[in-house]
Amino acid sequence: MRAPAVVWDSSLLGYDLGGEHPFNPVRLELTIRLATELGVLDGVPLLVPDPASDDELRRIHTDEYLSAVKQAPLAGWDVGHGLGTEDNPVFSDMHESSALVVGSTLLAARKIAEGEATRAVNIAGGLHHAMKNNASGFCVYNDCSVAISWLLDNGFDRVAYVDTDVHHGDGVQTAFYDDPRVLTISLHQHPFTLWPGTGYSGETGDGAAEGTSVNIPLPPRTKDAGWLRAFSAVVPSLLAGFQPQILVTQCGVDSHDEDPLADLALSVDGHRAIYRLLRELADTHAGGKWLAVGGGGYQLIRVVPRSWTHLLATVLDRDVAPEILLPPDWVGTVKRAAPQAEIPAAMTDGADTTFKAWGDGEDDPVDIAIRDTRRAVFPSHGLDPDDPRD
Ligand SMILES: [Zn+2]
Repeated sequence: MRAPAVVWDSSLLGYDLGGEHPFNPVRLELTIRLATELGVLDGVPLLVPDPASDDELRRIHTDEYLSAVKQAPLAGWDVGHGLGTEDNPVFSDMHESSALVVGSTLLAARKIAEGEATRAVNIAGGLHHAMKNNASGFCVYNDCSVAISWLLDNGFDRVAYVDTDVHHGDGVQTAFYDDPRVLTISLHQHPFTLWPGTGYSGETGDGAAEGTSVNIPLPPRTKDAGWLRAFSAVVPSLLAGFQPQILVTQCGVDSHDEDPLADLALSVDGHRAIYRLLRELADTHAGGKWLAVGGGGYQLIRVVPRSWTHLLATVLDRDVAPEILLPPDWVGTVKRAAPQAEIPAAMTDGADTTFKAWGDGEDDPVDIAIRDTRRAVFPSHGLDPDDPRD
């Protein structure tokens, strides 16, 4: 396997929604610092991105919207398109910083498409809520959708997108809702209980794309074992059937128990287990090609840096054992910046990530979601929704 590509440059910290906004770029800085101090990035060249061009952004977004984003910092608050709201405040260099996030995911995609890397990771990406004509959910431009669109024009006819963020991956689903070449799968907290209120199992795709939009809405308080049970009951079979040429994953970590914006109850250990499963699925069903991006995650100190260090390590095949202690230098930096923070000691929450496979005859709260999702989409893929072997 060719060495994985890691995209990172401190200029990506410019995507900063300011003030007390939860989407704080310090989470990226602390992640890179932690990964570096643990040796995960030793000898790994960090690829520096360029901003996406207007032509690249127009793969997904309208001209009218691009103009609004460019003008917003000058125009004040009344520019529409979801800009200037509490979720999506206007900030200086908003267009440039947002285009750079897209450029960074495009660079990762390009490295894989050109055969220079089999896997690539961009923790600054994953802005999965941005829509064609508006900002949404802290996301200005949708790097996931632009990269998938680019892949479709550069040698890939079947792209699978798996979204593990606690929120529904609505922007990416919408962008490819009628495109049978893209299978989107989102696991998220049930839309009845969390913004953006979409992602029901009945949202399955339009026309020829029927069955290629997949949603697994999980009940609040779902823990590692339930999440992994649902994932394993749905995702591997669909990937085996769809045979993607590349797996694109949005790896939001706001599904953690301590995340302030949502109510799933996963652990850092659960996140680590998810990344290992995604890697295995990319190897088994996508020729090893895996493009991983970040996403949500608002426990800036205790969760995001550890979980995404595990992500970087997994992509690089340098898996970090859960019991590894956090490096004193990293702990010292955090203590100086946030003296009140309770800093974890190790790369684990001490959680047990073993889970029972669906179809074992036992009853789990996530089984309603599993059954509904399988019944909604499995028949379109020639799979039997009620047979656990499928
Ligand atoms: Zn999220």
